[in-house]
Amino acid sequence: MSLEGTYDSANIFAKILRGEAPCIKVFEDDDVLAFMDIFPQSQGHCLLIPKNVTSRNLTDFPTEKIGVCFTAVQKLTRAVIKALSCDGVIVTQFNGAPAGQTVFHLHVHVIPRYANLPLQPHHGGKPADAAVLREQAARIAAAL
Ligand code: AMP
Repeated sequence: MSLEGTYDSANIFAKILRGEAPCIKVFEDDDVLAFMDIFPQSQGHCLLIPKNVTSRNLTDFPTEKIGVCFTAVQKLTRAVIKALSCDGVIVTQFNGAPAGQTVFHLHVHVIPRYANLPLQPHHGGKPADAAVLREQAARIAAAL
């Protein structure tokens, strides 16, 4: 059921976009917002969300916006690699609760991987120290 449905404008990412909830921002333009995941699966885990849409996931996202959104994902991924010197990056997104989606506003995860460091499970990570996230966000922003 969660794969399709009505967009709920009370979801946490919609609140962040409206300025009703905080986030640790990496960058923002007219089309997208990138910010730190507060339950990171690894050091530097970021999220990127499109603005001005009511898309629950990739399936109901306007096709004509995909290029702009994924250009921004590439820009963020490159900055993460440059800033954090990670050894690999997972770029992923989940569609529907059975696939692991918990927030129903389209978002893309950019998750750095480091050789010999385990990945925390999706939804199994610990809340991160905000000061650490701010420092990582600043480093990634400087590498854009
Ligand atoms: P998903 O499970 O793909 O829907 O991912 C939602 C992600 O959002 C998870 O990785 C959460 O840790 C993250 N998350 C939830 N609430 C917040 C928030 N307020 N700020 C930043 N990240 C969040």
